[in-house]
Amino acid sequence: MADLSAITPIAYLKGVGPQKADVLKLELQLFSIGDLLQYYPFRYIDRTKFHKIKEVHADMVGAQILGRLISLQELGEKRGKRLVAQFRDDTGSMELVWFQSIPWLKKSLKVGSAYIAYGKPTAFNGQVSITHPEMELFDNKEKKIGNLTMQPVYSSTEKLKKFNLDTKGIQKLQQTALEAILRSLQEPLPEYLLEKHKLIGYQQALLSIHFPQTVHDLNAAIRRLKFEELFFIQLRLLRNKQLNTQKYRGHRFDQVGNSFNTFFNERLPFPLTGAQKRVMKEIRLDTNTGAQMNRLVQGDVGSGKTVVALMSMLLAIDNGYQACMMAPTEILAQQHFAGISALLGEDICTVKLLTGSTSTKERRIIHQQLEEGTLDILIGTHALIEDKVKFKNIGFVVIDEQHRFGVEQRAKLWRKNSIPPHMLVMTATPIPRTLAMTMYGDLDISVIDELPAGRKPIKTVHFFENQRLRVFGFMRDEIAKGRQVYVVFPLIKESEKMDLLYLEAGLENLQREFPLPNFKISIVHGKMPVKDKDFEMQRFVKGETQIMVATTVIEVGVNVPNASVMIIENSERFGLSQLHQLRGRVGRGAEQSFCILMSGNKLSKEGRTRLETMVRTSDGFEIAEVDLQLRGPGDISGTQQSGILEMKIANLTSDQAILSEARNAVIEIFKEDPGLAQQKNGRLVAYLAQRGPNISWDKIS
Ligand code: ADP
Ligand code: MG
Repeated sequence: MADLSAITPIAYLKGVGPQKADVLKLELQLFSIGDLLQYYPFRYIDRTKFHKIKEVHADMVGAQILGRLISLQELGEKRGKRLVAQFRDDTGSMELVWFQSIPWLKKSLKVGSAYIAYGKPTAFNGQVSITHPEMELFDNKEKKIGNLTMQPVYSSTEKLKKFNLDTKGIQKLQQTALEAILRSLQEPLPEYLLEKHKLIGYQQALLSIHFPQTVHDLNAAIRRLKFEELFFIQLRLLRNKQLNTQKYRGHRFDQVGNSFNTFFNERLPFPLTGAQKRVMKEIRLDTNTGAQMNRLVQGDVGSGKTVVALMSMLLAIDNGYQACMMAPTEILAQQHFAGISALLGEDICTVKLLTGSTSTKERRIIHQQLEEGTLDILIGTHALIEDKVKFKNIGFVVIDEQHRFGVEQRAKLWRKNSIPPHMLVMTATPIPRTLAMTMYGDLDISVIDELPAGRKPIKTVHFFENQRLRVFGFMRDEIAKGRQVYVVFPLIKESEKMDLLYLEAGLENLQREFPLPNFKISIVHGKMPVKDKDFEMQRFVKGETQIMVATTVIEVGVNVPNASVMIIENSERFGLSQLHQLRGRVGRGAEQSFCILMSGNKLSKEGRTRLETMVRTSDGFEIAEVDLQLRGPGDISGTQQSGILEMKIANLTSDQAILSEARNAVIEIFKEDPGLAQQKNGRLVAYLAQRGPNISWDKIS
């Protein structure tokens, strides 16, 4: 094989062949030689640092021990079955334990040989041992490739190991691949960027990531490859945005008229916060360019996003267009409708509500008025995107609590006009900056990072079950002052029997402590008919009931300013962003508000961190950062299946600095050379031609 290249199928590589090629495809999704070279080690063994058995203790994150395998014994029955090895060095001996892959390990581990064992030490009955350590035969005679002090470790699978593709086997393949094609690999980054950002060349980076000679080399390689990965993601995102802006003409809102001015001068009951003003300005500039606006507004609960949305819709009306606002739940749509109608008064423009429970007759009227253009603002749920709903001239769309809507649903709203309406997506789930830059790299982002003046910060405390009587007493005091209280139970899955039992038991408990006729309790959960839910909600909103027992259906957006206490039961079972959302239901009025996190006595480390974070801060962005660190980007809502976060080497949690550097580099390039016409950017043009700017967004919402 003379002409191997990065795109050559992996089967053509010396030492691979069709069978191994198949497992590499199946197990690791490696199809070409280039794919293989981008399969980077997940860690390195520092050959210079070993721990002695005597000094190994359970608090260590990992221990690397050079020792001898003294014995190997299978113990236990069925589920308790395990393989136990005695491992010894000159300071003592310890146990290594495996619960899985026992037959394979029994065959491959050689009693009497020296091994390097690596893993997380744990303590059991006062003895320190390592469960499922990585084992590597230590062979003094064998010269390591290039005599590396940093030995790469590749993750492998049992299947791969059956084909001799353990970390050593993969390393050998990497060597063959590098020998075959390294010299032919093109540098994808422009020279001037390498210089400016002090990055090593591509060939050197690939060589060093697989066969680092020194720690310094390795770090340089890692930095270079991370930069490249993040840079190209940003290049595609921003190119995408640039193309969209060129492609989609937008309505030009070039005047501020009666509706806006009347509202602003005569109806707005409070001065706007600085952040609200700034975001309004951004929206006004953006809707007056002739291109379509796609903007995400992030703002903590209670930061006042609704007014910004309303004023934007009035701007649309002043320019001769209709507007609509879509909310994820019926309750929210109703609240928006009630709130916006009250703010507007009768005479500024026409507003109607369309949801699943709108009567057929009312629906028909709405459809007709929309098509005639006599209805200015339509507020509703998913019912808005039904094909039957046709606007005369829709110019502005607001989507509240964006993460509940898919891109496909957003796109449906676009198609309601030949020129797509401006889109304003509002979210109360602050997303860490790094994640936002990647997930929404092609949206413009506005941030409302200031709460209206005069709000008292919510006091948050954490109580254990055995302090419940104090909590009841506190509730009684607050209710006596005329306040209202939420008590939220986790119904993670509404179908789960246990959860329903908790809810019922909790409700009975409350009914006993807070009996009729002095106290009245509302209850709302997802299994109830919408009509009953609304009825119960309304009773609480009107102040007819003092306690609202609910599941997380009240999580999003519900606004009852007189409710000043939020009690979250089994709070350790909620995610951070959910806890933050729930807490945001109180603190909306002038009174001091409280959030009480109830939990059992046993808390996992992560559960404890979550509750401590909640008690420490109410800054949604800070909470989101902690969430990202606890769970990693893959679990943040809406990102799960988006390929964009599956990176080969970069990590959105730990590589924020490189991400900013890479994104700024791209922004600068587009500023200086929007068409990428300059010769020095030729490699970027080549990259885009090959990969295209389009990233599949259908999984992201
Ligand atoms: P969210 O951003 O959570 O959607 P809302 O728009 O529902 O917040 O606003 C929360 C409450 O704050 C509402 O009662 C609203 O009328 C009030 N509000 C909004 N902006 C201001 C402001 N600038 N000054 C005082 N109160 C405000
Ligand atoms: Mg809201």
